[in-house]
Amino acid sequence: MVTAVGNARRAWHIAEQVPDPELPMLTLADLGVLRGVEVGADGTVVARLTPTYSGCPAMAEMRADVAARLRGAGYTRVEIRTVLDPPWTSDWITAEGRRKLTEHGIAPPGAAPRRAAGPVPLVLTPTRRTVPCPRCGATDTEETSRFSATSCKALHRCRACREPFEYVKEI
Ligand SMILES: [Zn+2]
Repeated sequence: MVTAVGNARRAWHIAEQVPDPELPMLTLADLGVLRGVEVGADGTVVARLTPTYSGCPAMAEMRADVAARLRGAGYTRVEIRTVLDPPWTSDWITAEGRRKLTEHGIAPPGAAPRRAAGPVPLVLTPTRRTVPCPRCGATDTEETSRFSATSCKALHRCRACREPFEYVKEI
């Protein structure tokens, strides 16, 4: 007989392995997007997700992916809830997630800017910080484009090794 806690843990492990559509080397657990998974007395699985970057179209895909995996694992009643408060910050990306980004040549975000209380601004505030090159570690890098293939990443170039690299913006 599976205990409620054991069952919730199993459901968590299934849900947490869903990759992020925009940063596929990261799982929802690495991103800190998966806030919780509970299994109700009637067997309904409730997974709570917090969307990442404002307007990221990836959220719909993540929701569908989590639901599909849980159904595939035998949970017939699945509910995905979106949690907007507290809002996601790039600080929630785990150490493991940052390691994976660097391993893939993508610079992880620095410390997120402090947020004022109240409504979350819908713009990504421009930040001025040194982004070390994920390949050679040099700090002599420049931003070549504020937006990369996806809005959550910027494009940089290393002046030391001359390699372009993507960088996940902090928010
Ligand atoms: Zn470099």
